[in-house]
Amino acid sequence: MKLDVTQVLNGRLDRMPFSYRFSPASADVGEDSVILPEDLVIADDGILVEGEIYSVGGYLRLTAHVTAEYVVPCARCLDPIEDTMEFDLERTVRSGEAVQDAVYDDDEEWDGVLEDVLYLTDSRVCPDGDILEQILLEMPMVSLCSDDCEGLCPICGHKKAEGCDCAEKEAAKKVIDPRMAKLQALLDQYKAEEAEEAGRGEKSSEKSEE
Ligand SMILES: [Zn+2]
Ligand SMILES: [Zn+2]
Repeated sequence: MKLDVTQVLNGRLDRMPFSYRFSPASADVGEDSVILPEDLVIADDGILVEGEIYSVGGYLRLTAHVTAEYVVPCARCLDPIEDTMEFDLERTVRSGEAVQDAVYDDDEEWDGVLEDVLYLTDSRVCPDGDILEQILLEMPMVSLCSDDCEGLCPICGHKKAEGCDCAEKEAAKKVIDPRMAKLQALLDQYKAEEAEEAGRGEKSSEKSEE
């Protein structure tokens, strides 16, 4: 949200408290908006921003406490996990002219981003982009529905915790059926013969028994 700081700029107010809600979809961000992961879901108005803008030593400061409710899939079982993150944001608010000064006076290799600074446009400042960026940074690398989440069965794709008989079926396959055992023996023999033949060239082969 674009916050109009005219009152603080002209000294009518020392502090300007603000509070608003937004979501990535409704964020006031320009073309270089932060790209959040596709599987991160933040509902409409899921981000609460409460803060104030005040002047201190000729500067404007913005401080805000951000509470973001979000949903991400469990990294193992893909179940949706509802979670909340909270963090504080502190920024110096500068006018466009101050930005130009900073560019040429402070840092020759300026890359277009000065940390901890928000810029004024027409006496307005918008922290949405910085907040989304911070949300990205605050996201846990791996989200699990529980530390001992067993994940999905690699065979049928169902949740292991819900139970499936794939493991037993696999185990049963390994205990060879007597009829299968005969076939298996024939197959092994055939393979052994082939290997031997390949070794001896075109000579007729003898069965090798182990
Ligand atoms: Zn899980
Ligand atoms: Zn299964």
